[in-house]
Amino acid sequence: MTSPDKCRRKLVVVGNGMAAGRMLEELFARAPGAHDVTIFGAEPRVNYDRIMLSPVLAGEKTYEDIVIHGDAWYAENGIDLRRGERVVAVDREARTVTSSAGTVAPYDELVLATGSDPFVIPVPGASLPGVVTFRDLDDVEKMLEAANKGGSAVVIGGGLLGLEAAAGLALKGMKVTVVHLMPTLMERQLDLSAAYLLRRAIEKRGITVETGANTVAIFGAGKVEAIKLEDGRTLPADLVVMAVGIRPNAALAKAAGLEVRRGIVVDDHLATSDPSIYSVGECVEHRGACYGLVAPLYEMAKVLAARLAGEEVAGYAGSITSTKLKVTGVDLFSAGDFSEGDETDEVVLRDPSRGIYKRVILRDGHIVGAVLYGDVADGSWYFDLIKKHADVSEMRETLIYGQAFQGGGAALDPISAVAALSDDAEICGCNGVSKGTIVGAIKAKGLTTLDEVRAVTKASASCGQCTGKVEAVLAATLGAAYSGSSRKPMCKCTDLTHEEVRGFIASKELKSFPAILQELGWKTSCGCPTCRPALNYYLIAAWPGEYRDDLQSRFVNERLHANIQKDGTFSVVPRMWGGLTTPAELRAIADIAEKYQVPLVKMTGGQRVDLIGIPKASLPNVWAELLAAGMVSGQAYAKGLRTVKTCVGKSWCRFGTQDSMGLGVKLEKLMCGSWTPAKVKLAVSGCPRNCSEATVKDIGVICVDSGYDIHIAGAAGLHVRATDLLGHVDTEEEALEVCAAVLQAYREQAVYLDRLYKWSEKVGLDAVRAQIIDDLANRKALYQRFLVSQRAVRKDPWAERVAGRELHEFMPLAKLDIIPAPVEA
Ligand SMILES: Cc1cc2nc3c(=O)[nH]c(=O)nc-3n(C[C@H](O)[C@H](O)[C@H](O)COP(=O)(O)OP(=O)(O)OC[C@H]3O[C@@H](n4cnc5c(N)ncnc54)[C@H](O)[C@@H]3O)c2cc1C
Repeated sequence: MTSPDKCRRKLVVVGNGMAAGRMLEELFARAPGAHDVTIFGAEPRVNYDRIMLSPVLAGEKTYEDIVIHGDAWYAENGIDLRRGERVVAVDREARTVTSSAGTVAPYDELVLATGSDPFVIPVPGASLPGVVTFRDLDDVEKMLEAANKGGSAVVIGGGLLGLEAAAGLALKGMKVTVVHLMPTLMERQLDLSAAYLLRRAIEKRGITVETGANTVAIFGAGKVEAIKLEDGRTLPADLVVMAVGIRPNAALAKAAGLEVRRGIVVDDHLATSDPSIYSVGECVEHRGACYGLVAPLYEMAKVLAARLAGEEVAGYAGSITSTKLKVTGVDLFSAGDFSEGDETDEVVLRDPSRGIYKRVILRDGHIVGAVLYGDVADGSWYFDLIKKHADVSEMRETLIYGQAFQGGGAALDPISAVAALSDDAEICGCNGVSKGTIVGAIKAKGLTTLDEVRAVTKASASCGQCTGKVEAVLAATLGAAYSGSSRKPMCKCTDLTHEEVRGFIASKELKSFPAILQELGWKTSCGCPTCRPALNYYLIAAWPGEYRDDLQSRFVNERLHANIQKDGTFSVVPRMWGGLTTPAELRAIADIAEKYQVPLVKMTGGQRVDLIGIPKASLPNVWAELLAAGMVSGQAYAKGLRTVKTCVGKSWCRFGTQDSMGLGVKLEKLMCGSWTPAKVKLAVSGCPRNCSEATVKDIGVICVDSGYDIHIAGAAGLHVRATDLLGHVDTEEEALEVCAAVLQAYREQAVYLDRLYKWSEKVGLDAVRAQIIDDLANRKALYQRFLVSQRAVRKDPWAERVAGRELHEFMPLAKLDIIPAPVEA
């Protein structure tokens, strides 16, 4: 122990946490005995490794294991540790601090290392007993006490801390639910794919994850009993852990008149606005940034120690951070910037069978970010390359395979690369098929196509990610005898065709974007403008009511409910059911056209009114007024139902045989809102004179004396095609059912962007007729599935929740409650 010395400078440190401890270690190493140190610590204990609170909660470590500086260290360094004493005031004139216990300590230099405060969301009930934060040992003890009694825990927050708390409580036997406001877990550190894998791993631990879930209240009589979500659900909870973020603890500094923004503002040498007061750790704001991980704090601690030791060192210049999750069995790593951007490039590797995802993001030949899941061995190597701003252009081809693969010579083309593999090299991870097995089967059975190899060996038959490799084996084995692949992959992100992707979505029950991208081994992190809209459609069609429409995967016209024109303005088309309107609607349209100075009002070929030349900024107001007048979007842009054109039919026309207007209105109301692979137009003509041109529509109904002729597969655009007669039905009810069944078959079977006629030509008219006209049970089943889908579109709670956002704002389809209930199977 050293004795007080008048020559020594008096150093007072407020906060006995990780940053303060590291700073003092560095200081004692550089200037031993130069300071009389007093530390005030609000916690009643020595300095411990806060990071390790998660393993303490999980029962993997004890408090004793995580102590950084035991009593002996304080004694050896002559530190006056005031444990359990919170500093309540700083007198900058007198250069003293005062503690909650009344201690007044003078300083020559003062260091504020007050860390952060956990943020508590200000909902009713937040202060009930049983609601805890996750910041210090006391919090952990409260959680352990609750866990010993069992029951349910709700962890609010799906970030690093929340997930570690959830995993720990689940290990202790609690039934845990993580409630997270954002759509994906750890969204600040992980991209969609990694977050998908993480969620799967967390759920495998028996933890329920609720994303997009906003907590609005906490209930309980005397102690917490449940939380309430914005969507109205309540979740029972004997314990609620709030892990929604931290705020720099800058209150003391602010009260002392120091410059404080988000945190205590410091310069590159960690000096505050008062040159004799420094600050270090999470409480600090340096060059606009606040940090919540230890690595940057340790870098700051070094610089501050050097400054206090009187050394001239380069200042602190900010940090790039990396993240790992301390949940046993979950390997993830993320560093740097992983957001998408025009000027970034990425390399992605996925191994669906082993749950591995790796993504390295490059800008101008340098790595700017990395996200790894499942195999994090190269995390520190990538991180080092990021920090060094190393030029990695030369190793781009092999970068994703990690450090061990570098310096291996030029990259091979896929066929040579496969040829160079040994026979026991695994080609298909899902089914464990080696190159030798595939080559053997090709030779022994004379296989020449991918489908044959799939059928015989099962290679590429599960996730399909190895499809390219299997084709390369075929090419390498057959040489010139291989005629090449006639398959057309969906886009550059995958070797799979549209049909294969649709098949896998159904067979593997893939219900989200990240699930498709990971399980089908997408080569890019987030897809591309070609595959995203297609996948969004396939998911909508496959999982009505379960999958949430992804607005970002829609074209601008669909998002805005307006068609962009060549001058950047938009055209707006309100729906007119069956081409019918009223004086009130026309008056409203006229008023709106005048009010917004719409330059052109035009009748469309689909029997409605087009308001052309509306600036984007006016769209919300124009639509709000149209809605108020009872009109909804005509979806004149949609890959969905556009119009149902009608003639007046037997109510007015001398030649009319049936109520064509009535049927047209019913069809439009039944089908409106049904997303389809490409646009769909219908028409109903009251007699074979065909005034509504039903024989060039996707589905056309021609009314005749004996009932209704149903036509399909017409077109009158770039490609002009007369319809084919599908069949005849006697009643209006049957006509509705057949039309809806055709639409549903098209929805389920067509490739995205194929018009109905293309689908019909591919499948064959006879096959369409067989499944809809001849097979009555199949027709009824298609119709039921169509109803299920339509009810989901109109009753989608998500649509209600995002009301006010672009897509659904003008789609109050729930109000059009004319969808018959599907018949129970
Ligand atoms: C559960 C958990 C897991 C974490 N996991 C990781 C991880 O995996 N990786 C990572 O990098 N980081 C992790 N962190 C964050 C890391 O622990 C912090 O970045 C680090 O502890 C911050 O150090 P600090 O010294 O700035 O603040 P702290 O360690 O919080 O220390 C500040 C101390 O000051 C005291 N204090 C505050 N005001 C006063 C006052 N007026 N008078 C006296 N004393 C006062 C506080 O009580 C506290 O003891 C984790 C944090 C938690 C809570």
